[in-house]
Amino acid sequence: ARRGLNRLRHLPACTRDGVELSLMANIELPGEVDSARQAGAEGIGLLRSEFLFMNRDALPGEAEQAELLRGIVVGMQGRPVTVRTLDAGGDKLGGALGPRLTAEPAANPALGLRAIRLSLRHPEVLEDQMAAILSAATLGPVRILLPMVTEPGEIVAARRVLAAAARRLEKRGEAVPDPLPPVGCMIEIPGAALAADALAEQADFFAIGTNDLTQYTLAIDRADETVADLYNPLHPAVLRLIQFTTRAALRARIPVSVCGEMAGDPRLVPLLVGLGLRELSMSSTTLPRVKQRIRRLTASDALALAAQVMSQSDSGRIADLLDELGDGGR
Ligand code: PEP
Ligand code: MG
Repeated sequence: ARRGLNRLRHLPACTRDGVELSLMANIELPGEVDSARQAGAEGIGLLRSEFLFMNRDALPGEAEQAELLRGIVVGMQGRPVTVRTLDAGGDKLGGALGPRLTAEPAANPALGLRAIRLSLRHPEVLEDQMAAILSAATLGPVRILLPMVTEPGEIVAARRVLAAAARRLEKRGEAVPDPLPPVGCMIEIPGAALAADALAEQADFFAIGTNDLTQYTLAIDRADETVADLYNPLHPAVLRLIQFTTRAALRARIPVSVCGEMAGDPRLVPLLVGLGLRELSMSSTTLPRVKQRIRRLTASDALALAAQVMSQSDSGRIADLLDELGDGGR
């Protein structure tokens, strides 16, 4: 079976009726670039940049970040790299980074000063990161992804910081990519999903983060074992938010991807295809199986499945529907 999956590497992620998908890798460390390429990823759909800030006493400077990001972009050999700006707070880097950027521990870290909110509160830190991203973007295609966005104004503000970073490089006589890289936002907060049409006016692309979207929609801490059995991305509320977001992106003609765990689950992929998604980003280890699932699927079956699923109000029944199609396609 491993050999079979390996052979898939150079084959397109194309359904039997000719609909092509783009399968990208999620990575958290520069060392994962090789396995992304080996898995046949068409690019990095989500680079979690927290590694740049981990296990250290001082914030990383622009030069240090630039060197690491340049290595990743060069390593992807011309394929796009989606760099997410620092997503600190909540479950990520909470205690490790928090004290250096925030004065007080948050009363409720999941709802507090985190991710893009934290970055915009410290524009000098964001500007260093943007400058490093721009420097890497002269070596290959790069997209900039903002975490935990709720307001169009956050995208506008982040673009202003990006422009300041570009001026910084220009003043030093360094190359700046022209045009500047696309700036998109994560859709991982229910309010952002419901306002996706408004966000699409400012965002160049969407990346739906189903991990946090599930957490915030169902009010279930994604890391809390005592409620893990209730954590369910197949809850109709989560699926409706994914559908609403995807439709808003298609209407606005901006690219939309899913980069949460859902995208890497071969069982859920037919539903995502049926909802209109054409770009999925996942951990490299799951990519070949997802590709295999897509190559055995027809987009018309996926569309019919999505219609059936979206008319259901019971997540148990939804899971059954997915399993039925899964058996047929295997
Ligand atoms: C998500 O929330 O679904 C996501 C992709 O981001 P992370 O898992 O890094 O929070
Ligand atoms: Mg998230």
